[in-house]
Amino acid sequence: MAGEPQSDCLFCKIVSGEIPATIVRESETTLAFRDINPQAPTHVLVIPKVHYPDGASLAAAEPQTAADVLTEAGAVAADEKIDSTGYRIILNTGSGAGQTVFHAHAHVLGGRGLQWPPG
Ligand code: IMP
Repeated sequence: MAGEPQSDCLFCKIVSGEIPATIVRESETTLAFRDINPQAPTHVLVIPKVHYPDGASLAAAEPQTAADVLTEAGAVAADEKIDSTGYRIILNTGSGAGQTVFHAHAHVLGGRGLQWPPG
């Protein structure tokens, strides 16, 4: 069923506690933890606890939870003190765009200069 945990999903296993993560924030609907392969001084992933393959499908099915992900991303930026210098929220969507984990997640990146356009 849509939104249900998937037994083969890495991020569902982080939500359940089966796989450890460095958790920095948690809300009723979301979890935020440090990326295992950071691409910037701050690199945190914000995920919904429910399983959808990407941000767009999450937003279509559960718009409030998608909004919660963005709200928590902003809270992470404030916690990490990167909100005043600028930061980036990225939702890679599809393997052609670099998505490797097919559980919706927002990357929060900051703490260094960020180029535009991204690679
Ligand atoms: P994507 O490439 O946009 O799908 O992002 C997936 C992210 O998950 C990558 O930046 C990975 O480094 C990160 N990642 C993979 N496994 C783990 C883990 O076990 N803990 C935390 N981050 C992870």
